[in-house]
Amino acid sequence: MQPLSTWATDVLDLVLARACLACGEPGRAWCSPCVAACPRDLRPAGLAGHDVPLVCAARYDGTVQDAIIEYKERGNRALAPMLGRLLAEAVSAHVHGTGETAATIVPVPGHHRPARGFDALGGAVQAACSHLAASGLRAAVVPAVRLGRDAGPIKGLGRAQRHSAVAGSMQPGSSRAQRRARERRPLVVVDDVVTTGATAAETVAVLRAAGIEPVGIAAIARA
Ligand SMILES: [Zn+2]
Repeated sequence: MQPLSTWATDVLDLVLARACLACGEPGRAWCSPCVAACPRDLRPAGLAGHDVPLVCAARYDGTVQDAIIEYKERGNRALAPMLGRLLAEAVSAHVHGTGETAATIVPVPGHHRPARGFDALGGAVQAACSHLAASGLRAAVVPAVRLGRDAGPIKGLGRAQRHSAVAGSMQPGSSRAQRRARERRPLVVVDDVVTTGATAAETVAVLRAAGIEPVGIAAIARA
């Protein structure tokens, strides 16, 4: 899915007379000052039981939670650029200071539900790539990990249950995707919301089994 351009989003905002979900001002679905004012935590943190650094741009509460629900559950695609901005900041936190001008992004698989007709993570990732490109980092999205079997609904499960439901549910992507993932470093695994980190950790495990080492996991928010 192509993200809407800023221009198209602006036109839609005018036509639909949207209001910012944080301050209520008419205009963008989530205005730039409110996105900028949203509290961030861009320091890499650990993921319990795993040795891969994790950066979640914001906490999954308040306006961020409202925006993610509005985007994912109600399909308000006008929020993709704002959520993409947060995701881009989390990706940058892993690459910042390395002097790298290119990177590979591997999305956690399993988000694309054809029945819903909307690849929510894919839309946010594309928007994140636009933000990264504007800041001088060319990011290529590579589906180097794919779903082997559906792990089933993991919402509501505890940490250990989530990990065992997800274990073995993923496999390496096509050989072309594997090759592309090896070519361009650093490689960052991305997800929208990290709760226990079970699916992101499984994605990292599949990459490592294929001899590919990610520099970290980046997400929009931490629940
Ligand atoms: Zn606002």
